[in-house]
Amino acid sequence: MSADLRDRVLGEIVGEEVLKLACRLIRIPSENPPGDMSEIAGFIEDRLSSIGVSVERYEPAKGRVNLVAGIGKSGGRELIFNGHMDVVPAGDRSRWDFDPFLGEVRNGYLLGRGASDMKGGLAGIIYAFEKLVEYEKELEGRLTLVCVPDEETGGEYGTGYLVSRGIAVGSSVLIAEPTGMDLIDIGQKGALWMRITVYGKPIHGSLSPYAGESAVLKAADLMKELLSITELKPEIGEDVKAIIEGSKRIAEELSGIKGIGRILDHPTINFGMIRGGTKINIVPEKCEIDVDIRVPVGMTSDEAAEYVEKIVSKYGGEVSYFARGNANYTQPSSEIVEIAKSNVKRILGMEPKLFVQWASSDARFYRGKGVPTIHYGPAEVKVIHGYNERVRAEDVVKACKVYAGIALDYLRSA
Ligand SMILES: [Zn+2]
Repeated sequence: MSADLRDRVLGEIVGEEVLKLACRLIRIPSENPPGDMSEIAGFIEDRLSSIGVSVERYEPAKGRVNLVAGIGKSGGRELIFNGHMDVVPAGDRSRWDFDPFLGEVRNGYLLGRGASDMKGGLAGIIYAFEKLVEYEKELEGRLTLVCVPDEETGGEYGTGYLVSRGIAVGSSVLIAEPTGMDLIDIGQKGALWMRITVYGKPIHGSLSPYAGESAVLKAADLMKELLSITELKPEIGEDVKAIIEGSKRIAEELSGIKGIGRILDHPTINFGMIRGGTKINIVPEKCEIDVDIRVPVGMTSDEAAEYVEKIVSKYGGEVSYFARGNANYTQPSSEIVEIAKSNVKRILGMEPKLFVQWASSDARFYRGKGVPTIHYGPAEVKVIHGYNERVRAEDVVKACKVYAGIALDYLRSA
């Protein structure tokens, strides 16, 4: 590709404009739940339309608006820029030091709900896409911008909806999720979500624990036994072994929690909700536990499910699943990974590290179709989903430049 074009496009990225867009996005509260994206999607749609880009709109449920806009040539390589418009709720406003929806840059930080996750990154991909509209004819393939409404609630009406219908699946995907400027995320753990139900024998509470059988006490024993799942160790393939080891160190650095790295090569388990019994003076007949297990690379969610079911059956209980997804990753040698690495190096002068994340995201939908997918975006990890969410303003601009560089390299012109 001509170095001229690359330099020209990168030179046209104006930091204040990228940040102005990020502030505008933060000022539209797109909390999910409730998850109505009409306003923010309308804003982005108008902006793209005003520069002559036609935008397809998909709304599989009320307010769950997806936007898809493409430039360049169809039928060949297609790079997807994916970003979610929704943010988690701001929560208790009195716990914030600033208005979460004020959307401003102060002391070098972009402030507000979504600054890190992920309106900073979203502004970056939108702005980079807009800059490339002017050079559409120079692109050897297609660049498609996809803005989705519901990443924070599972993606069923967003990326999941689009990908399952073959809409904007692409040949490689960059999701602008928060990673930090020197990290490229290539994989994630699987999730196994379930409800376990155990039963007891009700009798008058005044006879407990000498008569009847308490479903709640049974559930307590069961939960303690289930904790043993965290001792299982997966068979990690050679292709990602070193990256997982590196990710363990990154997890400890980012969280400041010593030993937390083991979440990368072991399952985790959370008993998120429990409901048992009907009345204070009745021995509980039934207890339900909602369980969130995260499954590491090298273990299938079926293997984890089998382990759970074996224990639950000892207690005569039942398991029903809400979700069961496997861990997934993009080959470290994939072209999109190589291109992302070289752009971080060239543009930011940093040596990027690859890592595998412990939570899950929309990347799983693309990887499930065999499409190489990475996350890269500005991040202040400690405040993601927390109070006082912020991100370094300069990182938002840096990320935008890297996005443009990646698109130009991937869709290299002759
Ligand atoms: Zn996110």
